[in-house]
Amino acid sequence: MENVLVTGGSGLVGSAIKKIYKKKYSHYNFIFLTSKDCDLTNIEQTITLFNHYKPVYVIHLAANVGGLFKNMNCKVEMLEKNLIINLNVLRACYFLGVKKCVSCLSTCIFPDKTKYPINESMLHDGPPHLSNDAYAYSKRMLEIQSRAYQEQYNKNFTCIIPTNIYGPNDNYNLDDAHVIPALIHKCYLAKKNNNKFVVSGSGKPLRQFIFSEDLADLILWYLFEINEKETIILSVDEKDEISIQDVAKLISDKFKCQIEFDTSKSDGQYKKTADNSKFKKLYNQSTDSEYNFTSIEDGIEKSIEWFINNYNICRK
Ligand code: NAP
Ligand code: GDP
Repeated sequence: MENVLVTGGSGLVGSAIKKIYKKKYSHYNFIFLTSKDCDLTNIEQTITLFNHYKPVYVIHLAANVGGLFKNMNCKVEMLEKNLIINLNVLRACYFLGVKKCVSCLSTCIFPDKTKYPINESMLHDGPPHLSNDAYAYSKRMLEIQSRAYQEQYNKNFTCIIPTNIYGPNDNYNLDDAHVIPALIHKCYLAKKNNNKFVVSGSGKPLRQFIFSEDLADLILWYLFEINEKETIILSVDEKDEISIQDVAKLISDKFKCQIEFDTSKSDGQYKKTADNSKFKKLYNQSTDSEYNFTSIEDGIEKSIEWFINNYNICRK
């Protein structure tokens, strides 16, 4: 059986892949890595580990990840750890002759001042939003590094660009998490302690959210079914873009809480509307159908249920 190495296998996206891959891809041997198996900031450990598993395919998810406030407060770690992890992983893929590597970027690395919707060709067209420039530049370098390996060594190292992701096994930390898990945790505590449910910022920014299991499905589709080296946006439609206020309302309705906005806190980038037409065309060509995304209502319900059932053991 061919080995598929998933870096970041214990994270939000890695655990979603672990949950679903057997439906279609049980004939591959998946290995889900955590930082306990190998510190990917260490090149010797990284090469030793890759040499041990000799993967044919790599899904590279491992990263120092966080929401707006972590990106604003930990710029050095967001830049340095991600640069080093990505340098090491792609070098290891090259040294060990990996057949295909799919690495994960993010729509939050797109230019701040731009035209909408943003497509794949616009990634490097201007500086990212100042709030997350350190993280964004490290991820932009991953795209440059992948293309350099394509051009110079004809390697199939490619990148996907997902929008905001959420779901079971997310990081639910109140300070560092992305908006959906942070708000689920805040709302849970507000209800439990009879406190206010305080949402940071104005609630006006817009985001496209993808449920982690949908993204897992699409990463596997892109890895195994598509012979394409160009970077691709994996996103719900533009019409499914939603305000933070409406997301907060979906969560507060579940817990029956009143929302308050703390406008002294940052809004971050107003929007980063992504163009998913390349994905839709490819998906349609390869399957003769449209991808049926999980609705934000269902996804939030599943995430809340998972958070409550796993409150004692989840990252928070
Ligand atoms: P996550 O839940 O925070 O998981 C991060 C993963 O990386 C964990 O498995 C962690 O291992 C591993 N990791 C971190 N540092 C490591 C190191 N030095 N050595 C080895 N492993 C290390 O992340 P995620 O949300 O699943 O994100 C997956 C990918 O999607 C990332 O590349 C991220 O940039 C991208 N992305 C995320 C979002 C989002 O909204 N979450 C949006 C767009 C793109 P441990 O569990 O052992 O710490
Ligand atoms: P981004 O999409 O990369 O900016 O990252 P986030 O997932 O952190 O979303 C940030 C947006 O959600 C900003 O408009 C924040 O003002 C808003 N927001 C509201 N409350 C929270 C919160 O508790 N945590 C986070 N991370 N964002 C929040």
